[in-house]
Amino acid sequence: MKKQITIIGGGPSALLLAAFLDAEKFSITIYEKNKTTGRKFLVAGKGGFNLTHSEPINQLIKRYSPTNFLDKALLNFTNTNFRNWLDQIGIPTYIGSSKRVYPIEGIKPIAVLNAILNTLKEKGVNFKYEHTFSGWNNDNNPIINNKITPTDYTVFSLGGGSWKVTGSDGKWLDTFSKKGIKTKPFQASNCGYQINWKLNFIEKHEGTPLKNIAISCNTSIQKGEAVITTFGLEGNAIYGLSPQIREQLNTNSKATIFIDFKPTLTLENVHSKLKTSIYKNTTQILKKELKLSAPQIDLLKIYLSKESYLNTESLAKNIKNFPLEILNTASIDEAISTVGGIDLNGISKNFEIKNISNQFCIGEMLDWDAPTGGYLLQACASTGVYLANYLNKNG
Ligand SMILES: Cc1cc2nc3c(=O)[nH]c(=O)nc-3n(C[C@H](O)[C@H](O)[C@H](O)COP(=O)(O)OP(=O)(O)OC[C@H]3O[C@@H](n4cnc5c(N)ncnc54)[C@H](O)[C@@H]3O)c2cc1C
Repeated sequence: MKKQITIIGGGPSALLLAAFLDAEKFSITIYEKNKTTGRKFLVAGKGGFNLTHSEPINQLIKRYSPTNFLDKALLNFTNTNFRNWLDQIGIPTYIGSSKRVYPIEGIKPIAVLNAILNTLKEKGVNFKYEHTFSGWNNDNNPIINNKITPTDYTVFSLGGGSWKVTGSDGKWLDTFSKKGIKTKPFQASNCGYQINWKLNFIEKHEGTPLKNIAISCNTSIQKGEAVITTFGLEGNAIYGLSPQIREQLNTNSKATIFIDFKPTLTLENVHSKLKTSIYKNTTQILKKELKLSAPQIDLLKIYLSKESYLNTESLAKNIKNFPLEILNTASIDEAISTVGGIDLNGISKNFEIKNISNQFCIGEMLDWDAPTGGYLLQACASTGVYLANYLNKNG
């Protein structure tokens, strides 16, 4: 008789797990509390739908923190494996100029989800919608819709704590903590960061992007773009610094980032351009010689003292290393992803919960972090496939 695998939560990590489980060996059921699966996956599809990132795998694995935790899963099912698999199920992908991987033009997020679901239906995976997990009975069987659900293996893929409207509300955290499973509170990641902009700056530049910049925090640097919002800054140049900013916020209740407005030039290059310019007026030099945009120039002009702005040496230093104070993260619900959830000390190397055997956690509910841009979905897919391979062999 087939062994029963109960998967709870119907996000991408659950779907990839089910896709790679051996249906000859297991009877597989996905329990999802919504009326449909993959709602957060579809939300991800509304922006740039980065299914994975095309970096060489030895570089890709370095994007995740804590280091090494996800290596075995990512190496077992790499970004190339993910793309090949998507191709096999009828979803060809392409690499954009940012090296992020997207479904080819014309393929909508819902088509990607449906292609995955069709694959699962063809292999006989059962779906139970509007089924909510609420805890365990004394024999550690999961309770779903108030009914004890006996099973051989339980896999939780309940997601993180942002975008509650998608169903990933993180309510499970309390249930797991009460069960004695090690958890950590959720914190926002890949989110906007709060800056107390000066009024005369934000009134003029709200909604404008700072393009081709590099932002650093601690020793990490992220190149890209960040949009100026009334709340602060958001965009890929700052999302990738979430672990460093969060660390400073947690210790000092504030953080400092440094913007390099001219990452392609050295400090010496910038200084020499300022000194030797044919233009006399500083603002003209910044505009014509260094091709800085209006918000970049205003940041320097409004935030620096008149002396610093007019002194080529200090101006050059600020162009290369402009400090900005971060006061907070955006709310958890607005964040693209969260950290916290299942404490990694509470699970074994095969994602099994240490104090409940044959029960596993995968995907964003585990306490790892990565920048947005395909890395999140890749890790969700890789944890699912890794566990599928493990259960196919050992289950
Ligand atoms: C705006 C936005 C844009 C994004 N863009 C990208 C992107 O471009 N690239 C990228 O890589 N990632 C992106 N992400 C992140 C990515 O979507 C998530 O990391 C991924 O969906 C997490 O997958 P998961 O399977 O772990 O959990 P989820 O997708 O969160 O799924 C968890 C499921 O569990 C269900 N559930 C929760 N509690 C219960 C319960 N008690 N009982 C039953 N079911 C339950 C939920 O309803 C949900 O369906 C984006 C996220 C957001 C919000």
